[in-house]
Amino acid sequence: MLRPISHIRSAAVTEVILWLLPGALIALLGDLTWGLGGMLAGALYVIVSHLRHIGDLVEWARAPVGTPVPIASGVWDLVFSEINRRSRLMRDQREHLSAALDRFVEAGQAMPDGVIYMGSDYVVDWANQRAESHFGIDAQRDAGAPLTNLVRDPAFVGYLNGGDYAEPLIMKPLRQSQLTLLVQLVPYAETRTMLISRDISHLERLETMRRDFVANVSHELRTPLTVVLGFLETLADGVDDLPAEQQRHFVDLAREQAERMHRLILDLLVLSALETGAPAPAEEEVDLGALLDAVLRDGLALSSGRHRVTLEIEGPLRLRGSTKELHSAFANLVSNAVRYGREGGHIRLRWREVPDGCEFSVQDQGDGIDPTHIPRLTERFYRVDRGRSRESGGTGLGLAIVKHVLGRHQGRLEIESVLGEGSVFRAHLPSHRMVRQATDEAA
Ligand code: ADP
Repeated sequence: MLRPISHIRSAAVTEVILWLLPGALIALLGDLTWGLGGMLAGALYVIVSHLRHIGDLVEWARAPVGTPVPIASGVWDLVFSEINRRSRLMRDQREHLSAALDRFVEAGQAMPDGVIYMGSDYVVDWANQRAESHFGIDAQRDAGAPLTNLVRDPAFVGYLNGGDYAEPLIMKPLRQSQLTLLVQLVPYAETRTMLISRDISHLERLETMRRDFVANVSHELRTPLTVVLGFLETLADGVDDLPAEQQRHFVDLAREQAERMHRLILDLLVLSALETGAPAPAEEEVDLGALLDAVLRDGLALSSGRHRVTLEIEGPLRLRGSTKELHSAFANLVSNAVRYGREGGHIRLRWREVPDGCEFSVQDQGDGIDPTHIPRLTERFYRVDRGRSRESGGTGLGLAIVKHVLGRHQGRLEIESVLGEGSVFRAHLPSHRMVRQATDEAA
């Protein structure tokens, strides 16, 4: 509670009167000498007491912030309790401010972008951890140093000193060349600036992939198209001179190339439907008995007696997913086994339940695949042997389609291969996709 100033003043006067009163009474009762002596002693006590408290006050004011206010007596008790109240108020305000600052720093640290606050001449005041990792700086150690001394990339220094911050700068920091950063300077409060940095490496990777993809597709289409054009020109030039048999042969070869382009475009359409905004796989109940029979028939037709193709079914016969997509994925694996499997070899198709779901596996007795190629086989247009893939009608997109279909069913593709012996491709699907039938439960 705030006491009025007059209360303190009257307490001080009362204290003086109380100390002078005994001497004054003695003087009034007739003993002037003792009376004056008593009043003098009282006045001296009051002066000494004030001096002692003033000393305590000065000492406290010089002590570190937060030192408790000294204990006092008399009127000084009132004064000190006022000071105490004020110092408590200031401590509360300081704590409030420091909590607000902590929250602000936490928010700055949680930002998905790098942030650096700078004073004039780009002197670093504060940076969050993301900015530290983007520019390879240490906010504590480097605070007070100009950022242009810490990050010396000429394009970056030029951007900061250029004065035109309407557009951001795209840079690859010298110290972290694997990163691509989008950097924007925001001036504020006359001489202060804030630097925001965003890691756009993944966007650049996507752009590179897109460029590679367009280049690959163009290349894949150009080769057969050149062949078709060549045949058409030959036929056009010599349609009357060429024997009918040769003309027939050219037309057959041209059709083969056109079919190759057709297959490639169909695979591209499937892949782009899977990749771009295609709705999630229909949650229909897939009849695996029928699907696996169809896949086996496809395999037998493609092999036309060059392999022994067998199918074993040991897993659940119903699954939730898309029949069309799963058929395309399984058929792709079988078609690869036929195309890369040794003639006369065994191609073993197996559907079975495994501890964490079920899987369709295709085992062939082909040349096998060198382990260095295995992690890249599902990349679009990645082939171990380009010539062999083309010869056998491959588009280089089959395993990319398989990977996408399985991903959309929360599944995965596992590849095992031994050079010279053959390969096993396993399409794994999670248990939540399995539909248990009453007969399965009973079993
Ligand atoms: P492609 O149309 O070229 O067969 P895929 O995406 O289906 O394209 O396969 C990519 C590459 O993986 C193939 O070019 C081939 O080199 C290799 N490959 C796929 N399946 C097999 C297999 N069963 N045995 C050996 N190599 C295989």
